[in-house]
Amino acid sequence: MLKLYNTLTGKKEIFRPRSGKKVNLFVCGPTVYDSSHIGHARTYIFFDVIVKYLKQKGYNVFYLQNITDIDDKIIKRAGEKGIPPQKLAEEFEKEYLEDMKDLKVDSVSKYARATDHIKEIISQVRRLSEKDYAYQIEDGIYFDVSKFKNYGKLSGRKLSQAEDAVSRIDEGKNKRNRGDFCLWKVSKPGEPKWENSWGDGRPGWHLEDTAITEKYFGSQYDIHGGARDLIFPHHEAEIAQMEAISGKAPLVKYWLHTGFLTVEGQKMAKSLGNFITIRDFLKKNSTRLLRLFVIKALYRSPVDYSEKLLFQTKKELERIDEFVDKISQNGSVKKSRGRGKIHHMVVSEIEKKFEKAMEDDFNTPEALAAVFELVNKGNTLISQNKLSPNDAKEILTFLKKVDEIFNFIFEEKPKEKIPQTIINLVKEREKCRKDGLWQKADEIRKKIKTKGYWVEDTKEGSKIKKL
Ligand code: AMP
Repeated sequence: MLKLYNTLTGKKEIFRPRSGKKVNLFVCGPTVYDSSHIGHARTYIFFDVIVKYLKQKGYNVFYLQNITDIDDKIIKRAGEKGIPPQKLAEEFEKEYLEDMKDLKVDSVSKYARATDHIKEIISQVRRLSEKDYAYQIEDGIYFDVSKFKNYGKLSGRKLSQAEDAVSRIDEGKNKRNRGDFCLWKVSKPGEPKWENSWGDGRPGWHLEDTAITEKYFGSQYDIHGGARDLIFPHHEAEIAQMEAISGKAPLVKYWLHTGFLTVEGQKMAKSLGNFITIRDFLKKNSTRLLRLFVIKALYRSPVDYSEKLLFQTKKELERIDEFVDKISQNGSVKKSRGRGKIHHMVVSEIEKKFEKAMEDDFNTPEALAAVFELVNKGNTLISQNKLSPNDAKEILTFLKKVDEIFNFIFEEKPKEKIPQTIINLVKEREKCRKDGLWQKADEIRKKIKTKGYWVEDTKEGSKIKKL
């Protein structure tokens, strides 16, 4: 039975989605004003892993992620670069999506941009104003935290503490309470703006998430994720906004928060300058290494990034690679005698350990320990000449199942690009065939062959293969 640690209750709870096997999951996406770093990658790889696990367990998961493409940081950075904010956001959104593809984070069902949901955002501001939770001052519309009696239920922070965190909440000279946050910002001259009767402006950061989740999930859903820095005030604000509007609680049944990737104990962050971008990391290392690096730690704990830890991870990856090589090459197991039954038990025991660990709040380090136990046992059997091809097959099947979730065990061979010269020759040959110049077509085929490629004529046209 799957248990999740819920930040809202501070306990591990049995996972019971609101509606059968249907799971609506929302994770806070990036603010696209700069390149993403491997701290972001930690959070997004983890949520990719859990979605893949839930899907393997038969859940029907809808994974929604927002993209903050309008925000103070975007406006500031665009100003520094002398380009329109929208252009900057488009550039870094594209980069982010490419990074996710490179990291094999491919489980997101929908990316939703803030600027594509202005109508929904305005509707939420209006409803909050009508219910008297929102008030207007000179620079925008604010949420009055004193009116929401459960403010602080996620983070355990009281209103008085909320007031200490003012640097992380929007400034506003005439706010009623220092903890009040902005729902709608009146735009300064030259800033992007959307028309509105309260003053042309742009959305406050917290509101885009509830406007987006309300559109796709309604006012209540199953899981909300992000790293722990977002618990307060961001997620607290989301709860206040949506529960105030709908009168229904809880907004989210299970709140999951990842620990930080740190450097010498400090959060990896753009503002601290201690970051490695995903792109720079992948110039020197593989996606598989980063995924293993993330998976080998418990998601809720901080992980301190160091060359030493990365080196250890490389060694672990090598051990896996050597083992997979051995069991994939029939040569090293063929001569062995078959002891199928006993080895079948080994694999199914490991499988049970793997599942038990994953069911315990996605304890990936323990699940990984089960995989390494199998590697050790398999290696011992190989050295004793006791691993049969059938055993090897069974182990490979298990590892493939694990890799549907972890995506680091098997290396994907990059698809080789067919050189343009070959493509041109194939096109020329096709034309010759069309014109009935068969001899010339044959000559071209021979020429293609000498260059290491083979053309096959199929109903769908020419197919090129590397020889
Ligand atoms: P941002 O673009 O800064 O809003 O961050 C996008 C997501 O990445 C949020 O869920 C953040 O909490 C998360 N995140 C940012 N920095 C780190 C870090 N050093 N470690 C883990 N997650 C992070």
